[in-house]
This record gives sequence, structure tokens and C-alpha cells, in this order.
Amino acid sequence: MMSTPRLEIDLKKIQQNTRCLMERLSLKGITLTGVTKVTLGNPEITRTLLRAGVNTIGDSRIENIQRMRQAGIKARFILIRTPLITKADLVVEHADVSFNTELAVIEKLSQVAVRQNKTHQILLMIELGDLREGIPPEELNETVEQVLGLPRIKLIGIGTNLACLGGIKPDHQKMKQLSDLAQRVEKKFNLTLEYVSGGNSANLEWLFGLGESGDIGRINNLRLGESIFLGLETLNRGPIEGLHTDAFTLVTEVIESKTKPSVPSGEICQDAFGKRPDFQSWQERGKIHHAILGIGRQDVLVSGLTSLLDEPNQLELLGASSDHMVIATKGPLTVGEQVRFRLNYGALLAAMTSPFVEKCFL
Ligand SMILES: *Cc1c(COP(=O)(O)O)cnc(C)c1O
Repeated sequence: MMSTPRLEIDLKKIQQNTRCLMERLSLKGITLTGVTKVTLGNPEITRTLLRAGVNTIGDSRIENIQRMRQAGIKARFILIRTPLITKADLVVEHADVSFNTELAVIEKLSQVAVRQNKTHQILLMIELGDLREGIPPEELNETVEQVLGLPRIKLIGIGTNLACLGGIKPDHQKMKQLSDLAQRVEKKFNLTLEYVSGGNSANLEWLFGLGESGDIGRINNLRLGESIFLGLETLNRGPIEGLHTDAFTLVTEVIESKTKPSVPSGEICQDAFGKRPDFQSWQERGKIHHAILGIGRQDVLVSGLTSLLDEPNQLELLGASSDHMVIATKGPLTVGEQVRFRLNYGALLAAMTSPFVEKCFL
């Protein structure tokens, strides 16, 4: 039996999801940037995106981009988080393009690019209401003007990111606003923006809802991660028709299985993470089938897991510490038995990040 915890990764399903999304985007003349940050720039997975036809890879960490380059991956690499000024050297060295919102950072990139004898390309991110990154629209002209004066910096586009912090929906009005800003900048500064990047997986509802004659204005790119890997749209986390939602499976195993009382005994104080546990809802259940899985908060976002156990064994989460996931089940589990889970984005991010979770490619 293969050891656990392990993350089983079905590359064929990822490839099919990528292809399907690419085709649907290209019907509208929109290019797809594959966002690899949830995989930490895992080279096998990135190669799968490229095999599906993607040629631009976006990641939020320069270290991930460095990892992909060092693995010999040939693609156009975009750093999709505004660079840390202390890592400007790495950014110019390894990323072809970066997303930016701060003049001080772009000036630093310019100095480094001059020194490295390279041209660094940038997109300016615009704040359209979600309140994560972005330049306020009324400050865009001034920023563009200053950027255009910087040596070895080439402005190749603008973009926006919604539905991340404020949960703001990328709708027709927001996309029109971005499109209009692009047109105004192009006209005022007499340039052509290669990228008008409308957003992330949360933009698919807007795009698919447009219908055949729907107008997308100047929007010509989306950056997709979650929809590729989990097959979900991200406004309500519903499955996208035609995509696989089961490309990743987390496999854990039972390290203890006993019957125990449903509530703890003794005086209740704080748990391992400073919370006061609440077992109210478990009162009066008597003795329950109680099991521990050999995985914990150091490996995964436990609340982001959905069990694939059969109905008769169904599972409820009692709690988790760094290394133990404690569950109650309808039927008894056996020690060594493997229990499989589906992961949400947060759980996948943590599992990909944990050195204790083995990555197994199918
Ligand atoms: C993470 C990220 C994306 C991809 O988001 P998904 O919801 O995974 O599609 C796109 N753009 C930026 C700026 C991001 O940080």
C-alpha cells in the first residue's frame, strides 16, 4: 500500500480542463494566462498546462517562477503580485513581465533592468472596488506618464483583479470601466496595450454569460488558476460544465480508532490554538466511533476537506491540531485504512505547500 499523506494529481484531467477553458476563451478572442501559484510552480503541472496549449504562466511568487525556469520550462512568465522591492533583482532576472501598482517599485525595476541590460515589461493593475491591489483609476494617467519616462521599462498592459478581498463581482460594468480606461490610455499616450487583463476565474460567469454577440470591449486576457485545477467558478464555487472537479485527491490514513465519549471530560480551557472548544452540539451522543487521521494543520486546511467515505461510514470533523485530524464516523474505521478527500482551494494550497504531503502524479 502506498504511504500517506499523499496528494494524487491527475494530470490528464488538468490538461483537459485547461484545453476546454482555452477553447472557450478563444471563441471571444481572449488569451489564457495559466496561474500556477496554488501548485507552487510545480514543473510537472506547469508542463501539463503548456501541453494543453498555454504559453503564458502567471505566478505570485518569484521563487516559483525561478523554480519553473530552473526546471527548463520555456514560457512567458508573469509575476502577478506587485514585486517586493527587496527582490527586484530576481524579478528582472526571472520574470518577463510583472504586475505593478507602485511607482517606487517600478523605478527600482528600471534601475535593475538597466544594470542587467534587459527590458522589463509591466502591466499596471487598476483598483476597481475589490480593495486588494491597484492604482485608483483617477491616478492612472499620472502613473502612466511617469512609467513611460523610465528607461528599460515597457508598459504592455493594464489589468484588474476582483472577487479576491472584497468579493466584488466582475460584471459588465466593471469590465467596461477597465476597457474604457485602456482605450483612454492608448489614445492619450498614443500606444497599444498588448494586454487588457480582465481578471481571474471569477470572470468566467461574466464571459460565459455574454452570449455570441456580447461585447467584451478591449478585454483580451484572463488569468485562471482555480477553474483549471478544481473545475469551479469562484463566485459561488459551482462546477463549470464540461470540466473535471476531481483532478486532486488527498489520501490520509487512520492512526487510531476507538470508541470514545462524544464530549471531553474535565474543566474546558483553551485548545492547542488558543480557542475554547465548543462541544455543545455533541452532547448526549454517548459513545461514538472516534478516529484520528495522520494529517493536521501543518499539512492542510482541515476545514477545506470533503470526505469521499461511503455513506455508511460518513465522517464528521471533531477538530484538528498540527498533526492530528480527529473525526467521528458512523461505522468503525480500521487502523491503517486510507481515507480520501476532495480539497477546496485553501486546502490544496496548504497540501501543495506541506513538505510532508507526497505529490503523486497519475
Ligand atoms: C491568484 C490570482 C489569479 C488567479 O485566480 P483564480 O481564482 O485561481 O483563477 C489571477 N490574478 C491574480 C492577480 C491572482 O493573484
